[in-house]
Amino acid sequence: MQHLEALTREAAALGEGALTLAGTLTADESEVARTLQICNACRYCEGFCAVFPAMTRRLEFGKADLHYLSNLCHNCGACFHACQYAPPHEFAVNIPQAMAKVRVQTYGDYAFPAALGGLYRRAGLTTALALAVGLALFLLMVLGMRGTLLHEPLAGNFYAIFPHNLLAAMFGVVFGFAVLALGIGVTRFWRQVSPGERPDDARGAAIGGAAHDALRLKYLDGGHGQGCNNDDDAFTLARRKFHHFTFYGFMLCFAATAVATLYHYLLDLHAPYPFFSLPVLLGTAGGIGLLIGPAGLLWLNMRRDPRTMDLEQRPMDRGFIALLLLTSASGLALLAFRDTSAMAALLAIHLGIVMALFLTLPYGKFAHGIFRSAALLKWNIEKRRPSDLALGSD
Ligand code: SF4
Ligand code: SF4
Repeated sequence: MQHLEALTREAAALGEGALTLAGTLTADESEVARTLQICNACRYCEGFCAVFPAMTRRLEFGKADLHYLSNLCHNCGACFHACQYAPPHEFAVNIPQAMAKVRVQTYGDYAFPAALGGLYRRAGLTTALALAVGLALFLLMVLGMRGTLLHEPLAGNFYAIFPHNLLAAMFGVVFGFAVLALGIGVTRFWRQVSPGERPDDARGAAIGGAAHDALRLKYLDGGHGQGCNNDDDAFTLARRKFHHFTFYGFMLCFAATAVATLYHYLLDLHAPYPFFSLPVLLGTAGGIGLLIGPAGLLWLNMRRDPRTMDLEQRPMDRGFIALLLLTSASGLALLAFRDTSAMAALLAIHLGIVMALFLTLPYGKFAHGIFRSAALLKWNIEKRRPSDLALGSD
């Protein structure tokens, strides 16, 4: 133990020396580099997640390594609760918090357009709610001015209120921009963390491995299958389950929209669709998932041990969760009351919330899924290659 402490102390001193040389690192990046030097001597947490075996393949941590490893971290908190060097120890090792700070910095660093990168630090609950309320009120006002806000029941015919082509154009443009902005952002990130990466034989297996890790949220199991730490040092799988409800709920809603689009353009079958049609069943299942998941994530977020979080990001987390919750709640309410005279008002409110969600997608918490998937892909490529150091283990 004394030997380990001495080794780790040397690593800590080495880390601080390296920081002096690495003048280009930000303060948050320097903190991750410092703690990783200590972890690289200690290595107690090697089995917890992919971050530690990836770390052992490196002796030094440049900007690209820090960005990669920070996005590989799932913020499960396990290494903080296991760490003998966590505060109040003088080494003050706190990997989840240090990496969370660098993660949000990377979203801004690689953002497209660069000028909007600062929005990540401003995207909060107030902004999200103000945008949703503002857009919903605007649409309600438009309907009021056109005299279509109050109407006789229309048998759920949304397009009698807002024409199909208008909706498709409005949401298509905003969603297309979100995809473009996130796509360019993650491509910039990839080029930085994997310079000169070429397709090779491992690529197919690596993609499969990354998809498996991302879709199962493998690294939210604490490395032992019992789950991560949320409120304290007890393990819980709740975070993983609520993430799954959220992600698969979102995907089912997306599938419902895709199927409805195919119905409309390929089969000439136009909405409204009956309850037992594929688009409505997919949308209903997705909406329920998107109610349960975000509600659970909000509950966990409110109970989360603040020591393992970057508290400045909490508004961004909650803003995204709130928009997901409101989207599903308003969508299900619209489905339930689509045959009534309240349909136009409910539709305007739902569309305002969905538009706010789409507008904030590229500059809010949604980015973490995209950047983390890219980091998982890099890890799945890297771990299939021999280590340059011949020191690390997979
Ligand atoms: S987090 Fe702490 S216990 Fe885990 S490897 Fe780093 S220094 Fe060691
Ligand atoms: S917080 Fe969890 S995922 Fe992140 S480095 Fe620690 S053990 Fe790994």
